[in-house]
Amino acid sequence: FCAACQASQCELSRFLALSYKGHSLSSVCPPQPTTKLFIDGKFVESKTTEWIDIHNPATNEVVGRVPKATASEMEAAVASCKKAFWNWSETSVLSRQQIFLRYQQLIKDNLKEISKLITFEQGKTLADAEGDVFRGLQVVEHACSVTSLILGETMPSITKDMDTYTYRLPLGVCAGIAPFNFPAMIPLWMFPMAMVCGNTFLMKPSERVPGALMFLAKLFQDAGAPDGTLNIIHGQHEAVNFICDHPDIRAISFVGSNQAGEYIYERGSRNGKRVQANMGAKNHGVVMPDANKENTLNQLVGAAFGAAGQRCMALSTAILVGEAQKWLPELVDRAKNLRVNAGDQPGADLGPLISPQAKERVCHLIEKGVKEGASLLLDGRNIKVKGYENGNFVGPTILANVKPNMTCYKEEIFGPVLVVLEADTLDDAIEMVNNNPYGNGTAIFTTNGATARKYSHLVDVGQVGVNVPIPVPLPMFSFTGSRASFRGDTNFYGKQGVQFYTQLKTIISQWKEEDATVTKPAVVMPTMGN
Ligand code: NAD
Repeated sequence: FCAACQASQCELSRFLALSYKGHSLSSVCPPQPTTKLFIDGKFVESKTTEWIDIHNPATNEVVGRVPKATASEMEAAVASCKKAFWNWSETSVLSRQQIFLRYQQLIKDNLKEISKLITFEQGKTLADAEGDVFRGLQVVEHACSVTSLILGETMPSITKDMDTYTYRLPLGVCAGIAPFNFPAMIPLWMFPMAMVCGNTFLMKPSERVPGALMFLAKLFQDAGAPDGTLNIIHGQHEAVNFICDHPDIRAISFVGSNQAGEYIYERGSRNGKRVQANMGAKNHGVVMPDANKENTLNQLVGAAFGAAGQRCMALSTAILVGEAQKWLPELVDRAKNLRVNAGDQPGADLGPLISPQAKERVCHLIEKGVKEGASLLLDGRNIKVKGYENGNFVGPTILANVKPNMTCYKEEIFGPVLVVLEADTLDDAIEMVNNNPYGNGTAIFTTNGATARKYSHLVDVGQVGVNVPIPVPLPMFSFTGSRASFRGDTNFYGKQGVQFYTQLKTIISQWKEEDATVTKPAVVMPTMGN
């Protein structure tokens, strides 16, 4: 029995084997709960002998464990997807749409519960976790417009009596590999768009944060998704290799680091699969001296340190142009005022990093920045959070006088660290951004439309914010990170997402006019033999 709720099993543990409901997020029912696999419509315990611990990043307590699925379990998951494909792809598009309409409502109804689970496993603040679920929910809502999105094209009379038309058809079994930083949003970028188009789907969440996806899978089942249409396996490299190599998997959606993404892109493509890979970033905020100072500084601080900098669209690099360089002390003051705490604590602005290793890496990059000549204007390395002394906390940190050859500029830090560079002119700033290999996002802060227009036009980055620090498009558009931040040629969600998960079949038909059945009312008495 759980010491906190006195129940033999909390509500969620029926399928998640995680127990947190009604508790402090840092306490769970003993013994360590295990995350299930989701195979052929059932939440099943893995028979593996290899398990990975899940930690609460605010305390570093082990709060659960996740299996490395065995080869036969992974095979069973793909076989289930394959078996379900025919019926699912033949299910009318209106019926599939109905399931997703029910699903979006269930996600809304459970948004707060899913968010608690995210904070518990990932560490981000509850408000930010709600944003994580909400941005994923928007993709599910977008998937509900499949009836317009999946239309083919027609050209009548391409030549005499000949018409050409296309169908947009599903591919078959598709797979998704997700990172730790958005446990709900990123899986929701993947399987809803794929499945509403008629594909079946195999998900592998990040081994560090599997709970939100398990919850989402249960809700999907409750919405009416047939058994086998969505399967979930867990694991690390072996699961990834399995997905890259399995001949029945037609397409892979990946989001995560460059190291993993480039590997998966190559291995999956070599095996003839479609692969889309969203990867790392170094996003620059260019601050012009004519910008609205108050808004700009607030936006910079929020976008650099929110989610402890663990967002692929975090604005981790500021370029202060000309007179804007004088704003640096105020920027530091605002960053100092952010409250660092466990994500479930009221008033927390940022929570811990995902793991002690992540903290060590971030601290090392800060130290290296200082050794290479940067000025450490704000140092969050030694922060102590009362009651959470074992958490992976790093406070807001600002490195100024950074130069493009420094390691802290070249590497994605993925922590609450803002590196600040200086430029004399807008042209210098553009050159700097374009020389950086990443192309995920950037923002310009200015009150001059012409400056904004010039920047948006000349900067070689896939997503540009004008006075918008984190320009992540809503799902009627697509997520269009570019250059080293992306491999593949068709992006996530929006029209591009539908293209990625469908193939065209083109039909060219000829029906000769003279062959048309000629019917006239038979007014004459039929005579045999004529
Ligand atoms: P990660 O690459 O470590 O893990 C992502 C997935 O790949 C996980 O499921 C993991 O099990 C697997 N994996 C990890 N290492 C692997 C390897 N060597 N070979 C095969 N598979 C491997 O990424 P993460 O740390 O979970 O996430 C953070 C990274 O994701 C950051 O670089 C961030 O910028 C990026 N990200 C990008 C976007 C985007 O849209 N561009 C969005 C979110 C996160």
